[in-house]
Amino acid sequence: MTEITRFAPSPTGHLHLGHVASALAGWRAAMESGGTFLLRVEDIDTTRCRPEFIADLYTDLEWLGLSWPRPVRRQSAHMDDYRRVLDTLAGRGLLYPCFCTRRDIMEAAGAPHHAPDGAMVYPGTCRNMDAGRRAALLAAGAPYALRLDMARALGLPGARSLTWHEVGEGAQPCQPELFGDVVLARKDVPASYHLCVTHDDALQGVSLVTRGQDLRAATALHRLLQHIMDWPAPRYRHHPLLCDATGRRLAKRDGALSVRAMRMAGMTPQQVCNAAGAPDHISAVSSAVGSH
Ligand code: GLU
Repeated sequence: MTEITRFAPSPTGHLHLGHVASALAGWRAAMESGGTFLLRVEDIDTTRCRPEFIADLYTDLEWLGLSWPRPVRRQSAHMDDYRRVLDTLAGRGLLYPCFCTRRDIMEAAGAPHHAPDGAMVYPGTCRNMDAGRRAALLAAGAPYALRLDMARALGLPGARSLTWHEVGEGAQPCQPELFGDVVLARKDVPASYHLCVTHDDALQGVSLVTRGQDLRAATALHRLLQHIMDWPAPRYRHHPLLCDATGRRLAKRDGALSVRAMRMAGMTPQQVCNAAGAPDHISAVSSAVGSH
């Protein structure tokens, strides 16, 4: 099967070896099937994303021998697309405005439940807000997020029996209810990762999503959104995360060594690929380039 894969980084820091492993997995799956590898920049959070990180990620990936069709989709340029999805969901009664602050949520939650991705499950305070009070808050311009009404979403035909296909494992049962009423549009950013990623995978015809194991649990939620919106379901392959010498997963925030730093220090692409656990990548690039 000819695959369309993608690497979809959020440019909130420089790429590290974990990103390299992820990008190479997507590129490899596309090339081996004679398909297409896409690069997508997930930069909706303009408070954390920076243009220099975007420029550097292009440079890093090209240095590693990757190529992709232009123009690259930058999510921040497509906020209208996400707005339309939100309007559709709202029109079907699946969203509600949530005025809570983090503190309100902590207080209302008492002993908070956590979703599989570690986020706190919303205790539902604003879900059943009296219509008059909601209208007054909206009229007063109170900031709000938009949450998915999970119970209603799960009431849609077929929503309770969804599965996703994990390559090598087969059908995986989905339990999106573990996430509760997730935020689909934030107060400060008028869309959310879950919404944009599923919309764009559908729009771009992605057939195989290759990404880190840390996003595996969220796939249940992504399947639910695909089901609600009648978007096709790609197959998924979640790869293990790279860890440092102490067994902690590599993360930008912990100052994991960046590809840029390794490049500047004189390491070769081959050495960086070795470190990312993909020692045969450079020879794969040569044969892919040679076969075109
Ligand atoms: N933008 C996400 C991140 O950088 C990845 C999205 C995905 O692969 O589904 O963590």
